[in-house]
Amino acid sequence: MLKAIFSEDDPENQNFMKMSIQKAPSLLDKLASLTTIRDIELFEISLLKTMAELLKIKQLSMYKINPLNKNCWLIVYANDYKEYDNKRCFSESQEIYTSEITIPEHIEFAQIWIKTTGKPYIKKQDGNFLIVYPVANSHQVISLISFELTHSLSENEMLIITSLLSITQNFQALLDENQKDKLTGLLNRHSFEENINKIQSLSLHSQMRCHKEWNGNDKRKNKALVKQYCLAIIDIDNFKCINDHFGHIMGDEVLLLLSYIMKQSFRPKDLLFRFGGEEFVVIFSIQHKDEARVVLERFREMIGDYHFPQISKVTVSIGATFIHKEILLVSEIVVRADKALYYAKNHGKDQLHFYEDLRDSGLIIERKETGTIDFF
Ligand code: GH3
Ligand code: MG
Ligand code: MG
Repeated sequence: MLKAIFSEDDPENQNFMKMSIQKAPSLLDKLASLTTIRDIELFEISLLKTMAELLKIKQLSMYKINPLNKNCWLIVYANDYKEYDNKRCFSESQEIYTSEITIPEHIEFAQIWIKTTGKPYIKKQDGNFLIVYPVANSHQVISLISFELTHSLSENEMLIITSLLSITQNFQALLDENQKDKLTGLLNRHSFEENINKIQSLSLHSQMRCHKEWNGNDKRKNKALVKQYCLAIIDIDNFKCINDHFGHIMGDEVLLLLSYIMKQSFRPKDLLFRFGGEEFVVIFSIQHKDEARVVLERFREMIGDYHFPQISKVTVSIGATFIHKEILLVSEIVVRADKALYYAKNHGKDQLHFYEDLRDSGLIIERKETGTIDFF
């Protein structure tokens, strides 16, 4: 195929073909290991790592665009921590930085450039190059990868990037399909266990600082690691009545609108699941426990205040719990949130309860020896 495109007589092309062949085994090895990953977030980090290694680049950034606001989720891969932050790098996990930031101006500009021209954005400034490539799924650009280099990219390097990105596009579409709920586009139950396991290990190993909160607006300044997570089960009240009175299609419409409001109400990095039927789960990080109550009450009120076409008012009940490092069973975390939800349903619906509050105030009793819980 290369023969058909390039003339063998052209010395530049001969050189290019030789380089491509030399790169091929390592590229194929990297691709083979990349495509064994079944988790989108891990895949993105591995993609940055693969690009950095293949192109011998010290630092790469991925900006995951939130279409609903001006924020983005930044993932920085730096393979030389010492140069990057005046500190030594002791383990590979310290090379990844993640943070939610406002989209930087140059990235916003690159985004517009890519949208209008369909080409990567290249800017030369003070002898350095900023090169931004789009990463798309089957519908739209979902993130941008930026390279800050002291040299321009060669044709061969550009070919490696575009090849990796087109494989990424196909692969992400497959991962998406596997992890997302067909009706709402939220994560499905299948991906729940995987995600909660990851969060549990983050909680457990937070002292290892494998994921650092990094404030991109405040130049390379590390913030304290967010150690706490909250899990909440959100269940639509009287959904069967909605189906019975307005029909199944209107019921589906409510599920869609609710998931849309969920995406607006929570942050892009929060994990939103449709657990099944009219039940949703959200997992989000918090700095203080009070923050969880504010976030969930805000969502409950948003739903209560929203005018759903024809139906008018829809309410939700929410049961929440904190993900503690001492709780090792995923099922136990879900049971705790479910018990708080059950309490909300039995005490008038359209309300939020935390398992820990109910337990501490004696409204539910946990029987330690059996793991079961009694209600008063
Ligand atoms: P509660 O306030 O106690 O939660 O009562 P509820 O009526 O919301 O809960 P119940 O479990 O009795 O009924 C849930 C209904 O949700 C029953 C089921 O037919 C409906 N349902 C499940 N999945 C879907 C779906 O994908 N679309 C629609 N339209 N309805 C669904
Ligand atoms: Mg319900
Ligand atoms: Mg239910």
